[in-house]
Amino acid sequence: MSFKNFPMVPRVLYGHGSSQQIEEIVEPLRKNGYPVIYFADHCFKGKSLVQNIPAKKNDKIVFIDTTEEPKTSDVDKIRDDLKSEFGKVSGIIGYGGGSVLDITKAVSLMMTNEGSSADYQGWDLIQNEGVYHAGIPTLSGTGAEVSRTCVLTGPERKLGLNSDFTPFNQVILDPSLTLDAPKEQAFFTGMDCYIHCIESLNGTYLNAFSKSYGEKALELCKKIYLEKSEWDEESHEDLMMASWHGGMSIAYSQVGIAHALSYGLSYVLGIKHGVGNCIAFDKIEEYYPEGVRDFKKMVEKFEVEIPKNICVNLSDDEMNKMVEVALELHPLWENALGKNWREKINEKTIRELYERM
Ligand code: ZN
Repeated sequence: MSFKNFPMVPRVLYGHGSSQQIEEIVEPLRKNGYPVIYFADHCFKGKSLVQNIPAKKNDKIVFIDTTEEPKTSDVDKIRDDLKSEFGKVSGIIGYGGGSVLDITKAVSLMMTNEGSSADYQGWDLIQNEGVYHAGIPTLSGTGAEVSRTCVLTGPERKLGLNSDFTPFNQVILDPSLTLDAPKEQAFFTGMDCYIHCIESLNGTYLNAFSKSYGEKALELCKKIYLEKSEWDEESHEDLMMASWHGGMSIAYSQVGIAHALSYGLSYVLGIKHGVGNCIAFDKIEEYYPEGVRDFKKMVEKFEVEIPKNICVNLSDDEMNKMVEVALELHPLWENALGKNWREKINEKTIRELYERM
């Protein structure tokens, strides 16, 4: 029997305004004279968040286009540009939602690992420790701030760089940074957290460690999305912590069916992770009856539209690719359905699930 010996984020700062402490955190990194690189979601161009970044003269702020899910080719290009401009960097600090956080982790790893990031999609393929990387979420729910992966769409598959070197060296949880996120986007990202909880708590990989985090995260999600009458400042604080706990829960268990299907939707149709999860989760009531029932109440209460009929016009090739991407995620199916999951799930059953969406 072998137990997972997984790394955690060693340093965390929490509180309204805590992100302003970034300046004193990055200062010691500059010892070697190389610049500090800041990644920020392109939506922050010209906004106060960017004006508050303490970039010094040879530092650089790179805006990350998050219109699409992060690709291995994006990561390789950013890495190549940084290497040709600076040679080495002291560290990378990422401000944004899951996409920016994942790109921050991936580029940090690729600064010290040869070749394309596509070569490292999988489990424990990364050979060398990356450069220092810190994550500052501006949207809560993905758990990217705490996870040991960074999910990328590559030429062959959508799969993360899962490794002991992937987690951030530092995370700053500043709920005030999430206040301005667009309502619908915040909802889909928050539902990512809710679905992490349901898939973890209903999975066969569940243990007391992941259960303790998953239960807390689920309690917070229910408070935010079902019990409270308004979405207020406390909701932002609660969701930030729910995201953290949800991420901790799946760290020692796994996600499940909605995530597997969402990866396929994203790979073929370019659908964002949080949206894809909702599209899939909405249609898999037989696997997660209670979770889906509450989910539907949340969607109704927040008056959000879940995209429908998105698979009706797919070609056979597209559908086959989608099924293949989803089916390849063995640990997710095994967590959801147990060791004999292959007796319950095959190309045909997955296809039928997609046809409902
Ligand atoms: Zn997720």
